[in-house]
Amino acid sequence: MSTLELIWDTKTTYELWSWTNGATHYTAQLVRRIKKDVYTVRIGARGREPSDVVALKIARGAEDVEDMGREAAFYEQQLKGLQGTVVPKCYGFYTASVHGTPLGCLLLEYCSGPPERIPDLNRKVLRAAYALHAAGVLHGDLDAHHFVAMGRDLRIVDFSVAVPHQCVSGLARRAEGHGRHHVCGCQELAVLESTYHARC
Ligand SMILES: [Zn+2]
Repeated sequence: MSTLELIWDTKTTYELWSWTNGATHYTAQLVRRIKKDVYTVRIGARGREPSDVVALKIARGAEDVEDMGREAAFYEQQLKGLQGTVVPKCYGFYTASVHGTPLGCLLLEYCSGPPERIPDLNRKVLRAAYALHAAGVLHGDLDAHHFVAMGRDLRIVDFSVAVPHQCVSGLARRAEGHGRHHVCGCQELAVLESTYHARC
């Protein structure tokens, strides 16, 4: 069991729990809102001054918290080996009941910035997408805005509509990087191939 003390403002602090995040106890302090239900927070080990800035996604109500649990499960299972490279590092999924309403918090590496300045962007997009499918995940909404810069690297974000996936594409060939064009039988990758391959 792991806990998250979320300091929302001077008057409000939430106490949340996780049963899948080892024995890590965090304190998080709200920094600012980025967009609807997404914030930046500073986190640190419980009892210490929070220091690292990470992203916080919030879900309210039973249905949304359940959806967030599904997204968190991808990070904890299929995407575990890709955290911090192809997808953001995940710091845990925490839940609580606030005045009877379920609250969910997903803590993720904060990735920001348009990917245009990433060197070799198009090749990295394809490589990341293939790695995702090889790990058994179909993203479901791989628009350009779900490719986000993390320094000179690229992360695929938002697994809210992802589904488990057994890919039928030519994974080995693409992963070895022979640069051979291969339009595969997998729809999500085929769309990316036609969009990005031409720009490689
Ligand atoms: Zn696939």
